[in-house]
Amino acid sequence: MRPSLLDPLFASVRTLAGVGPKISALLLKLLGAESANMLEPRVGQLLFLPPASVIDRRNRPGVAFAEAGAIVTLEVTIDHYQFSPSATKTGAFMRGSVPHRVFAHDDTGEVTLVFFHAQRAWLEKSLPLGEKVIVSGKVEWFNGRASMVHPDHIAPVDGSEDLPLIEPVYPLTAGLSPKTLARAMRDALTRIPDLPEWQDKTLMARENFPTFSQGLHHLHMPQEPEDIAENSPARRRLAYDEFLAGQMALALVRAKTRRLSGRPLMGTGRIITQILANLPYRLTKGQEQAVKDIIRDLKAPERMLRLLQGDVGSGKTVVGLLAMAHAAESGGQSALMAPTEVLARQHFATIAPLAEKAGLKTALLTGREKGKERQRILTALADGTIHIIIGTHALFQEKVDYNDLVLVIIDEQHRFGVHQRLQLTAKGTAPDMLVMTATPIPRTLVLTAFGDMDVSKLTEKPAGRQPVTTAIVPVERLNEIVERMKNAIKQGQKIYWICPLVEESEHVELTSAEERFQSFLPIFGNKLGLIHGRMSGQEKDEAMLAFKRGDTRLLIATTVIEVGVDVPDATVIVIEHAERFGLSQLHQLRGRVGRGDKPSTCLLLYKGPLGEIAKARLQVMRETEDGFRIAEEDLKLRGEGELLGTRQSGTPGFKLASVEAHADLLETARKDARLILERDINLQSERGQALRLLLYIFGRDEAIRLLRAG
Ligand code: ADP
Ligand code: MG
Repeated sequence: MRPSLLDPLFASVRTLAGVGPKISALLLKLLGAESANMLEPRVGQLLFLPPASVIDRRNRPGVAFAEAGAIVTLEVTIDHYQFSPSATKTGAFMRGSVPHRVFAHDDTGEVTLVFFHAQRAWLEKSLPLGEKVIVSGKVEWFNGRASMVHPDHIAPVDGSEDLPLIEPVYPLTAGLSPKTLARAMRDALTRIPDLPEWQDKTLMARENFPTFSQGLHHLHMPQEPEDIAENSPARRRLAYDEFLAGQMALALVRAKTRRLSGRPLMGTGRIITQILANLPYRLTKGQEQAVKDIIRDLKAPERMLRLLQGDVGSGKTVVGLLAMAHAAESGGQSALMAPTEVLARQHFATIAPLAEKAGLKTALLTGREKGKERQRILTALADGTIHIIIGTHALFQEKVDYNDLVLVIIDEQHRFGVHQRLQLTAKGTAPDMLVMTATPIPRTLVLTAFGDMDVSKLTEKPAGRQPVTTAIVPVERLNEIVERMKNAIKQGQKIYWICPLVEESEHVELTSAEERFQSFLPIFGNKLGLIHGRMSGQEKDEAMLAFKRGDTRLLIATTVIEVGVDVPDATVIVIEHAERFGLSQLHQLRGRVGRGDKPSTCLLLYKGPLGEIAKARLQVMRETEDGFRIAEEDLKLRGEGELLGTRQSGTPGFKLASVEAHADLLETARKDARLILERDINLQSERGQALRLLLYIFGRDEAIRLLRAG
């Protein structure tokens, strides 16, 4: 259970001054939901919103010396009012009417304060006649006279400490005023509980770190513009907290799982040799090396925790199969978990024939195997008859028992959380683990996402692959493309046609797959197939199978097929509204073709006009097929996108930390996390207890559940 000390940070933002249901909804839009069912953001979430910039209000030149257009703070005496006759009581003005004017002066000159919407009573109260007040805002000069239209701040002289001299500016959502946000933020700062320090004193001193609470205060009530900079001690402290929480969670998983000492799997090489003999191709050098790495790990007494990273189409599946064959030679069972049913079935279809030929018993287990069939599989798993089980997360549900699970392979890792990984691991005594990912992850991100796992990379594509030609085409040329597709089908080709959404949504004008299907039906007839996420598992299978067999030749699909689907003789992929897809998604989709020995084509259909970033993305797609370069460009473009948009941190999943700005801290955090756990694996020391708070604060409490489990 979360310590009650942290409750104030986990309270809804609605408990904050000036935040009702409407503002809360706007804040949710701004901050994003941490989980799908989250309706109101938390106080702590608000505090982790870094300001984008500041307004410096320290400039107090006096009226006469205020430069045109400059933001200044003035201490003035109110002389007289000139109220607008056309204003209504509520302060509303008619169009084109004259504003209220308030005349004031200081030692150096006179200034007119101008208000287009304000109530008389409010003006008289906040700018009392004959009294001194502080106003802050932009000064304009007109005909030798200074004026300030709607000062940003008005404060009595003795209340001037309320005036933010360095005012943080946050990214805003339409409808949310800076004042409302500032007020809520100030209130949020008062909710920070008195927390014990979890950071190491030496590091704190070396880095000049403030405390967690001080750090947040510096960030939201900066004394200097530099306080909010990414390299300020405050920001670095908070970034370090965030990194450390992440690295601790990863290191905990690793330490806990590795400590359960693995069992050496010696293998015999017999089954692997058989499988290799039956393969219609030779392994690439990368595949050979990866298999070697894995077998070495499996033979070692420690548990394997290895990431197999390889671009789409690089042939990870067969590497996984050989690893499982080695496990079987050693008398153990393996489980291969895929993120979707389509993928699980596809893996089964690829692996089962090869494995069975070599004498291995394989089975498939998803949510769809039910009743007697399911029972049969479960029994065979429990008595050890099955060597290789392939499935979805159904593999680690409670009722599934293994006889001797020694190897777990997770495909397309990024779709699974740490928690799910642990559940599956708990099924074996200490199964070795191989994670396969097609998403090319830049080096820095591997560290934040996986901690220090061992990595094998497949850098080359299997021999004989033809490059994919990519063209960018405006949607206006749809008819032309349809003609080309008709021809392609006549020549026996297979085509994926990708649509972004299943149903026409009110807000986003996207061509739906179903609609596209209907409009193509008269053209392509029974050669046309359809697959999307709302279909039942069986319908999806049938659609995939028909396409694989070639009964259908043009498969209309949503991004269901984004990850992993393998139909080697598909040679064309058309992506509608390509401008709406992210770069890595486009790359994944394109990876569905170019898998055989025939040249392939990728047509990116777009609807103009294109924004700068969308244009750059499509350009990158045309220029390169190199997944690693694409991943890097993606990160760059997203960084830019985030500067233009609302998000601040360039690192997915991080709010305050950025791998670009804080790379040095990430490395330190990784070492620190490891050291901490070496000394205090259960986080029981005083510092350990404090670190538990850190894990909760940054939403890494999955790792705490792990502590209790022991
Ligand atoms: P991914 O890494 O994207 O999961 P797959 O494992 O699905 O890639 O392999 C893509 C295709 O390449 C499959 O059709 C597979 O049979 C084929 N393949 C794998 N390794 C080789 C190889 N060494 N030579 C030729 N084809 C290969
Ligand atoms: Mg794959």
